[in-house]
Amino acid sequence: MDNPKIWLSSPHMGGTEQKYIKEAFDDNWVAPLGPNVNGLEADLESFLREEKKIAAVSAGTAALHLALILSGVEAGDEVICQSLTFSASANPIVYQGATPVFVDSEPDTWNICPDALEEAIKDRIALGKKPKAIIAVHLYGMPYKVDEIHAVAGKYSIPVIEDAAEALGSHYKGQNCGTFGPMAILSFNGNKIITTSGGGALVCPDEGLKKRAVFLATQARDQAAHYQHSHIGYNYRMSNICAGIGRGQMEVLEERVAQRRAMHAFYTEVFSDVEGITLLKEPDEDYFCNHWLTAILTESFEQREALRLAMEEDNIESRPIWKPMHLQPVFKEAPYYGGGIAEDIFDKGLCLPSGSNLTDTDRDRIRSAVMKFLNL
Ligand SMILES: *Cc1c(COP(=O)(O)O)cnc(C)c1O
Repeated sequence: MDNPKIWLSSPHMGGTEQKYIKEAFDDNWVAPLGPNVNGLEADLESFLREEKKIAAVSAGTAALHLALILSGVEAGDEVICQSLTFSASANPIVYQGATPVFVDSEPDTWNICPDALEEAIKDRIALGKKPKAIIAVHLYGMPYKVDEIHAVAGKYSIPVIEDAAEALGSHYKGQNCGTFGPMAILSFNGNKIITTSGGGALVCPDEGLKKRAVFLATQARDQAAHYQHSHIGYNYRMSNICAGIGRGQMEVLEERVAQRRAMHAFYTEVFSDVEGITLLKEPDEDYFCNHWLTAILTESFEQREALRLAMEEDNIESRPIWKPMHLQPVFKEAPYYGGGIAEDIFDKGLCLPSGSNLTDTDRDRIRSAVMKFLNL
């Protein structure tokens, strides 16, 4: 085929992944524990700094479920969650039998709005239900308004769980995303900035909490020769084979961030003379975005769809922004605070191919498709 598919974001191996996998096979560490799991955790700890402890698990979703359990979220509780996000940010709230309370975005970072957040907290407290936790997302790698969000959360003493699934390598005022809250989660799914094929991590504030997370993630086995359990456990630990992929990927993480940011710079140039189309970009120099995906805002839903279909015609994948959770059929009963910002971004927003493995030929095809669409 002369126009092979250009993907939104596909896996990009660095070259040393198979060395770590081979070591695992040679030593028969084909299990959900082993040297690669420990090695990946150590690599992530030294990358993130701030003396965080990492528990590598089977998925970002599993990490978020553990974060909620470790925050004491139980059946009947309420948890605040950014509405404009992937469903995996909200589903674990329901796994715990708790209720999500969704909050709108602000237009600068597209992430949770500090004012709507405070309104939600005040109203839930007035209704006699103080939220147990806040899930804030660094969407598409863009840091949320860290100072403002943590100030509001601190005022009411509610822990923030950072969903940094899309934001490994992003930072705010020089501090890495994933280190602002007491806990954070990362994802290494196949489409993320680095991958373990499938996997995730829980960022913990200390060794004690990490131990607790690993205990829960390995079926909650009490100390005994026989199998004894005083808690419900989960099978959430990361495979040592997957962790081997992750160790190879960590060697090229900085390079992948630079490549994704170069894609954003490419689109900035492509759309520089186009009236009415804007990119999601860093609001000021405090923000450093890994630009996991480059996202644009078009002028209307119709224009967004037309551009998406025009790209599809040349076998180029693009995708609407995450549909806000408060508009999802499955969450239609959940409370929502804010206005129409997330909804407007959903209507007009489009994610463009952003992979670190895209070539000059791919970029030429993307540019041509956009130019043809704009009649330029
Ligand atoms: C990918 C993603 C997750 C879930 O991670 P998995 O590893 O796929 O379970 C959670 N939140 C956001 C915002 C994501 O993009």
